[in-house]
Amino acid sequence: MTTIEAFAGPLSGYRRVVIKIGSALLVEGRGTLKRGWMESVAADVARLRASGAGVLLVSSGAIAMGRGVLKLPKGRLKLEDSQAAAAVGQIALARAWAEVLGDHGITAGQILLTLGDTEERRRYLNGRATIGKLLKLGAVPVINENDTVATTEIRYGDNDRLAARVAAMMGADLLVLLSDIDGLYTAPPQADPDARLIPVIDRITPEIEAMAGGAASELSRGGMKTKIDAGKIATVAGAAMIIASGKVAAPLSRIDAGGPHSLFRPEASPVTARKAWIVGHIDAPGVLTIDAGAVKALKQGRSLLPPGVTRVDGDFHRGDTVIVVDEAGNELARGLVAYDAVDARRIRGQNSAVIETILGAPGRTEMIHRDDLVLKGDLGD
Ligand code: GLU
Repeated sequence: MTTIEAFAGPLSGYRRVVIKIGSALLVEGRGTLKRGWMESVAADVARLRASGAGVLLVSSGAIAMGRGVLKLPKGRLKLEDSQAAAAVGQIALARAWAEVLGDHGITAGQILLTLGDTEERRRYLNGRATIGKLLKLGAVPVINENDTVATTEIRYGDNDRLAARVAAMMGADLLVLLSDIDGLYTAPPQADPDARLIPVIDRITPEIEAMAGGAASELSRGGMKTKIDAGKIATVAGAAMIIASGKVAAPLSRIDAGGPHSLFRPEASPVTARKAWIVGHIDAPGVLTIDAGAVKALKQGRSLLPPGVTRVDGDFHRGDTVIVVDEAGNELARGLVAYDAVDARRIRGQNSAVIETILGAPGRTEMIHRDDLVLKGDLGD
């Protein structure tokens, strides 16, 4: 048996790595998978595992693959069409991954996630346990969004952020986004000859965000913007992120050999997994405006109580993530709200004795408990 050469460069030393693979890398023509390329990635995965890392793949390509097979029109697909395309594409995609990984003696396990699986605490803990078990058993989870049942309102929509949520959920220390670009450039490289690749990004500043622009290709949903969003989710949770091109064979070997890529460093003191989960929410359906007294209490590490809430916007349920702003609209914190929006509106500005009368039952007194609250300062900004 030949021994697999472990990575010794930029990809060495990681414990748990999530690799996101974009649709355009996997599918060509009218729905053909690039089998040879997938084989090279499987060999890279074997090397990464030989370097001591557990590996998870977040693979796009179901819709791109299925639309070709079903001969659906070019351009943006209607929701029902993309759901049907995903059903056809996912089965072939998962099978192909199982086969190419199997050639290296690696077992693959398919996981299809819907938004609620990472956004709702109970389902999140459940998903984490299943994926954790697969890793413990030595398998490679192959993850995608469950596009056949995802609807517009309840979807990640792009696998960049899905992969970042998975990286945070699983306590990964590295997220690799393989796409059709070498990394983050100072300006769009097609348009600006002076554009430079930024090799290391210490922090995602507004300047970095401005460089990301918006463009996405027809096959994949995420442009550079969703990659930066993914970077925020991952780095806050303590994972580094690498953006590199997957348009070459063995793209991970190329990164490790010093090939072009951008590395986003993780936050030096990441918040706890639970707080990272709270701030990484894809959607925050509500906004609570609070008065000066409550701002002070929050800054002292106290809970947000109903009397300090002056305004409630949005439609949310108990347990959803909401944004907390001051009277001037500046974001101060995010947290898991303890009441549905209807009740939050009824009890805002009230003290606990009155709240009991309003709700007709003793409720919890906090609007957001301090354990469920993440101040902006906690994230180092
Ligand atoms: N989940 C989609 C698919 O498998 C891809 C989303 C994306 O391109 O980011 O087709």
